[in-house]
Amino acid sequence: SKVLVSGANGYIGMWVVRLLLEQGYSVRAVVRSEQKGDFLSQYFRPSGLVERLDFAYVTDFTKEGAFDDAVKDIDGVVHTASPFTLEAKNSNDLMSPAIQGTVGILQSALKTGTQLKRIVITSSCGAVATPSPNPRKFSEEDWNIAAVEDFKKNGEKTAPMTIYRASKVLAEQAAWDLYHQHKAQINWDLVVLHPPLVFGPPINELKSPSSLNASIAFWYDAVIRGDEMFSTKQGLSVSNSWVDVRDIALGHVLALQKQDAAGQRIIIAGGTFIWQEWLKAANALPQSPVQGKLQQGFPEIIDESSDRVIQVSYDISKERQILGLKYKSRAETTKDTLEEFAKRGW
Ligand code: NDP
Repeated sequence: SKVLVSGANGYIGMWVVRLLLEQGYSVRAVVRSEQKGDFLSQYFRPSGLVERLDFAYVTDFTKEGAFDDAVKDIDGVVHTASPFTLEAKNSNDLMSPAIQGTVGILQSALKTGTQLKRIVITSSCGAVATPSPNPRKFSEEDWNIAAVEDFKKNGEKTAPMTIYRASKVLAEQAAWDLYHQHKAQINWDLVVLHPPLVFGPPINELKSPSSLNASIAFWYDAVIRGDEMFSTKQGLSVSNSWVDVRDIALGHVLALQKQDAAGQRIIIAGGTFIWQEWLKAANALPQSPVQGKLQQGFPEIIDESSDRVIQVSYDISKERQILGLKYKSRAETTKDTLEEFAKRGW
């Protein structure tokens, strides 16, 4: 069967395309230009997987009917595309493609997706969790409505990360609204996935470390670059949740396949961390390309004997029950990421 993947040239999207092709699916990759598609064709040529790959070029996600042709003859959709940048000049540059892109794919699915069975959308834990001073565990019951309220109140003065989170809340709400409105007359259903910070080896086209997308750029800054923000005790004590890019990509494939995923929001989180733990993992690797070159940080802030306090963590029991992923360990992700960076000469 054939799956449409939007954001196919992105960090997560390209792994989704790769896993789908490796599992025998045909893939229609949505990218914004031919040149972006060429990178995928070249990447999948040596393995022959390119035979089952074609492209839909959608330059403007906000245009009416943008996906009408793309979703024809498609059995499943994975919609990963959404601006994930903290550098948008204007909130609308972020909001509009996030919301209109999601709504547009669903509207085209209603119109021309005659053989469509399922749509999987990449939302974010940012649409779930509202950061607070006290450590908290969140579940699929939670919505980060506070981000939307903050944005409504403060407009362009809102913190960039909050604008991004609000865009993910609003896009997801719009998707569920449309789905519930039309549920009676459609043959497809909807699944929405929520990853926390995504780390792990990028396989997408990147000119230099500065073109890494925001989440893996944090990792690069913390582990390799020893950025100012990550060279103090306080910076390295900051905690969060994470997932490996290959695990979240496989989560998308499983979300297409598992019947019970229908109509569900699903959090996919591989683990928790404090930044010092990534430094520890990188420094502990034997024969790594960066051995002896990294900062040590403050090893004493990892207290193995007590439970770590993690500011934002997630209940993943729904994921375990429905998808059943086996998550990569911190050591595995660290090793593979460093090797990928070394291959690129970074
Ligand atoms: P990338 O920035 O690597 O990929 C984003 C993709 O979306 C690219 O293909 C990009 O295309 C496309 N895109 C961005 N802006 C637009 C736009 N205005 N119009 C059309 N397409 C656009 O990021 P990720 O792979 O990490 O993100 C994929 C999804 O995962 C997003 O929905 C993001 O919100 C979500 N997510 C990511 C997390 C993370 O930590 N990485 C955490 C939680 C959720 P182009 O190359 O042409 O710009």
